[in-house]
Amino acid sequence: MADVQKLAALQDIDVMIRERRNDEEIGFTTEGIDVLERARSKLSKEIDGRLLRLYERLTKRYDRAVVPVIEHRCLGCSMSVPTAKRKSGEDRRTKSVVVCESCGRILFFV
Ligand SMILES: [Zn+2]
Repeated sequence: MADVQKLAALQDIDVMIRERRNDEEIGFTTEGIDVLERARSKLSKEIDGRLLRLYERLTKRYDRAVVPVIEHRCLGCSMSVPTAKRKSGEDRRTKSVVVCESCGRILFFV
């Protein structure tokens, strides 16, 4: 699995943890946060450290740091993604991660 896919999975886990924390704040009892946090720490060990730090930095600014590219556009900011970046992102053999030139989010090519 490419790092960006792992990162997208990590983001999903973070969203689920956040949802459960919000539920607890408004008085619901939730289960499974410990399972999610274990999964998070396991997965984060498999992701390149530099990429992980970029992700952590972006999540301070955005709810979602990893966004899909649909119809050649970054869905984080709606700006179109230049062809060269798109080619590199769509090439499954490259391990490099592509970020949006406009908003800096990590792009996920589907
Ligand atoms: Zn963007």
